[in-house]
Amino acid sequence: MVLQKHNNVHVLLLPYPAQGHINPLVQFAKRLASKGVKATIATTHYTVNTINAPNVGVEAISDGFDNGGFAQAKNVQLFLTSFRTVGAKTLSQLIERFQQTTTPVTCIVYDSFFPWALDVAKRHGVYGAAFFTNSAAVCNIFCRIHHGLLELPVEEEDLPLFVPGIPPLDLPDLPSFIRFPESYPDYLAMKLSQFSNLNKADFMFVNTFEALESEAVNGIRELCPAKLIGPMVPSAYLDGRIKGDRGYGASLWKPLSEECSDWLETKASKSVVYISFGSMVSLSNEQIEEVALGLEQSGMNFIWVLRQSEHAKLPKGYEEMVKEKGIIVTWCNQLELLEHQAIGCFVTHCGWNSTLETLSLGVPVVCLPQWADQLPDAKYLEQVWEVGVRPKEDESGVVRKEEFVRSLKMVMEGKRSEEIRSNASKWMKLAREAVGEGGSSDKNINEFVEHLRGAHVTANLNDY
Ligand code: UDP
Repeated sequence: MVLQKHNNVHVLLLPYPAQGHINPLVQFAKRLASKGVKATIATTHYTVNTINAPNVGVEAISDGFDNGGFAQAKNVQLFLTSFRTVGAKTLSQLIERFQQTTTPVTCIVYDSFFPWALDVAKRHGVYGAAFFTNSAAVCNIFCRIHHGLLELPVEEEDLPLFVPGIPPLDLPDLPSFIRFPESYPDYLAMKLSQFSNLNKADFMFVNTFEALESEAVNGIRELCPAKLIGPMVPSAYLDGRIKGDRGYGASLWKPLSEECSDWLETKASKSVVYISFGSMVSLSNEQIEEVALGLEQSGMNFIWVLRQSEHAKLPKGYEEMVKEKGIIVTWCNQLELLEHQAIGCFVTHCGWNSTLETLSLGVPVVCLPQWADQLPDAKYLEQVWEVGVRPKEDESGVVRKEEFVRSLKMVMEGKRSEEIRSNASKWMKLAREAVGEGGSSDKNINEFVEHLRGAHVTANLNDY
């Protein structure tokens, strides 16, 4: 592609409007801004006021559901179709507006859920870069299905599933869109569509780092030239090179930071269990009850982020019953908590951002994955990086309280706990190295910026 040389590079970043996608893209924007690039987030009307990051512009586009986004659409297919048409149009208008200024757009970094954004970039003669917010292992799996190198549905007799660069996957490790393709046709289609025009993209970024996923990334590099640029976690927790960068600068809910930190100050070092299932998943009543009773039974201190919509699932009178040991809040600043010396382990749903955050901060985990990519993430946390334990589900798919408490104890106390803590410290160090000066991810980001500045030419995905 022919582009005029830009010293004044302007990158427009387009996240999928959910917390787990906005966070890494806003973080990437801040990273680019710290390297002298003008960075602007283009996001939906519904989320535009939730983003406030230093040195990063924020502009609204429309997904066609300006009063509630996905919640208003209520249907993933309807939402994505509307986003594709209305989003492409309003994104184009935004680019045209910038083209009239002294800082025209040089490149669109788009969430890989929006492959249509590449067409918009090409129409305007600017670079297009796909940004994957999941692991390299997950990219590898779905990319192979897209290319017909892995068959669906996966039958029990095909297991374990062998994918190059990935340890054998058993039934509980499979992403739910693969394990139950008929239950999630729209999500599966979306995951596969990420690869539909990737060969025309100028860059492919994955939010992970070389030391963490060297084998999985070799597997994907047989198919496309993934550049690893993660972990996209605020700089204060890693290299500290972006001054004052202690939060993503994006929150769909108000964090109860003071309430959490005041309470934590009164607790001994590594004595508190932090529990959160992220921004989206909803657990069954039975599972919430087992976790609640398990926490009580363990006698451990805990701080539990439970969204308001989940509170009714707690056993009657629970908060009062456990008030000496635990608090329940609706949202917190997760990074501040993970960093706190009182936190001893993280009971997580294994969303990819939570996974990267816990690895970056060296906090051991108890894995309670619920759906989607959380299942392979849990496999890696327990068996590849060995930073935690995944309690077993019973035949009805529920982790019972006894099994949960056993896992909590294994991570919080005793010999295995020491090994797990030492592994967690190792990954924390490697994460810092990756984004630090001259680290593998830092180099990839610098190369990208240099490329945009027109300094030299690197491989284009078309060459693959
Ligand atoms: N998070 C937060 N406060 C909370 C719970 C979560 O700030 O109380 C953040 C967390 O730090 C992470 C994101 O929300 O960056 C959740 O992303 P993840 O990929 O872990 O899960 P998802 O919400 O997408 O399922």
